[in-house]
Amino acid sequence: MNSPTQKAPSLQATGGTALPRGSALLANPLLNKGTAFPEEERDALGLRGLLPPRVFSLEEQLVRAYTNFKRKSEPLEQYIFLTLLQNRNETLFYKLLETYPEEMIPIIYTPTVGQACLDYGVIFRRPRGLFISIRERGRIAEVLRHWPQTDVRMIVVTDGERILGLGDLGVLGMGIPVGKLSLYTSCAGLHPSYCLPITLDVGTNNESLHDSPTYLGLSQTRVRGAEYDAFIEEFVTAVKQVFPKTLLQWEDFGNTNAFRLLNNYQKRICSFNDDIQGTAAVALAGLISALRITGKPLTEQKLLFLGAGEAGTGIADLFTTAAVAAGMTESDARARCWFVDSQGLVVQDRLPNLAHHKLPYAQNHPPLTSLAEAVESIRPTALIGVSGMPETFTDAIIARMAEFNERPIVFALSNPTSKAECTAEAAYRMSNGRAIFASGSPFAAVDWKGQTFVPGQGNNVYIFPGVGLGALVVEATEITEQMFLAAARTLAELVTEDDLALGRIYPSLTRVREVSVLIATAVAKEAIHSGLAGLVIADDQVEDAVRQSVFHPAYRPYI
Ligand code: NAD
Repeated sequence: MNSPTQKAPSLQATGGTALPRGSALLANPLLNKGTAFPEEERDALGLRGLLPPRVFSLEEQLVRAYTNFKRKSEPLEQYIFLTLLQNRNETLFYKLLETYPEEMIPIIYTPTVGQACLDYGVIFRRPRGLFISIRERGRIAEVLRHWPQTDVRMIVVTDGERILGLGDLGVLGMGIPVGKLSLYTSCAGLHPSYCLPITLDVGTNNESLHDSPTYLGLSQTRVRGAEYDAFIEEFVTAVKQVFPKTLLQWEDFGNTNAFRLLNNYQKRICSFNDDIQGTAAVALAGLISALRITGKPLTEQKLLFLGAGEAGTGIADLFTTAAVAAGMTESDARARCWFVDSQGLVVQDRLPNLAHHKLPYAQNHPPLTSLAEAVESIRPTALIGVSGMPETFTDAIIARMAEFNERPIVFALSNPTSKAECTAEAAYRMSNGRAIFASGSPFAAVDWKGQTFVPGQGNNVYIFPGVGLGALVVEATEITEQMFLAAARTLAELVTEDDLALGRIYPSLTRVREVSVLIATAVAKEAIHSGLAGLVIADDQVEDAVRQSVFHPAYRPYI
């Protein structure tokens, strides 16, 4: 571990390169101010005549941008508008996101980003991020050097195999790394110049894309096995070489690769998988908040998951870490997590055919094929949907949960909204208003028998931006389960009694910047305490260091 230092780290990017002039300056979204260039900069930077005469302030530009946003009647049109704005003027884009987070986040991320990915080949205007295809094998470092920024600190990378709950979209999945990085900046204040979205194109097994006239990627089936692994190995090695200070976030990989890549690389490059670990932390935070309502301890919970993939087993793993921290043995904690996957209840009879990530949860129980049977036999305190299968929490299942539990916990986390295991309305209606409900994509408030319920959104955006920021501020060498546990606890602590009174087990999204700062602080401290910080700061200085690193969208003077 390094010796303690009082020096606050700085993540305030300076841009690095010389300021371009004239139309090149207007074409650079990180530097462009559009109509807000003041008179003296118009003269000094060769802009005179390239802009209409009136000088606007950022606040005045915001009015115009928001008016335009509101004029678009369809979410996908709003997404396109925001994409174009981001490619034109990032300061204004982030000002809009900072000012109206509850309206903007569902557009730049789930649920609208799902539609945007499906339509990406059609709505594509200009590329954002790097596309690295299997054809570039042997040249990946060279491709990374084509990126205009030399100081990259955060890469979100996908191979497009499991985009949200939508399946294999190949390179059309690029909307996800782009959207997630926008959230890093808007929700945690990571400077946009540090962010690099990457899509790896190894083909797609989505046959409909092979013949599509608008598909943007390679028209071939997915490369698997040793060739795939060698491609990823070269990619990680090149990232470490070209961008040595970067944190790598694995995003929306299919689960045959996701667990393996995380396990293989998490100690070799500072990295995490948001679908597994970020989801786990946000769901655990929701559970901890829900227990403030039920008054029951974590160690007495019985969780039944529908879906035993990245999200489900990730949540169960972090639940286990939390339960062990609360005094349970690991095997007792795992015995409290039950799974139903596409083949039925995950039990020991199925051991020879179970994927590695399900093995710790193969219970000693007779085989069952349906969720309804499993609910009947296990009588869980919490039902957690992470299957991508809509309407699988039937009215009858929710009603039974409400018979077994005074306050049944029902999380329908599958995204986008069309894939949710049940609606908020069904959860409240079938439990007579007693369910503690959360979803992955947002549901509107529900009025039930004179009471208004505000469903919580278990959105990963509460977690990953803060985790990433915290890790970067102290230059963490690794991201651990304990850091995600610290993030989950911090998030749960920020839920107010007023939130709980409305049935909301997450803070309002309008507080996401503050949430991220406090999660970053907790994660940075955890990194320091566990000897994984490259930069060690005294505990009482960590929050200040995080706050000083945060980017606020504002124009800085150029002369
Ligand atoms: P995954 O592909 O790794 O796992 C899906 C699992 O569902 C698999 O175990 C599969 O066997 C199971 N399954 C499929 N059909 C089923 C059926 N009919 N009945 C029971 N199980 C079935 O995917 P994942 O990463 O775990 O994501 C699953 C869902 O969770 C997606 O819809 C995703 O959008 C959602 N998710 C939500 C959040 C969030 O709310 N914060 C975060 C991550 C993922």
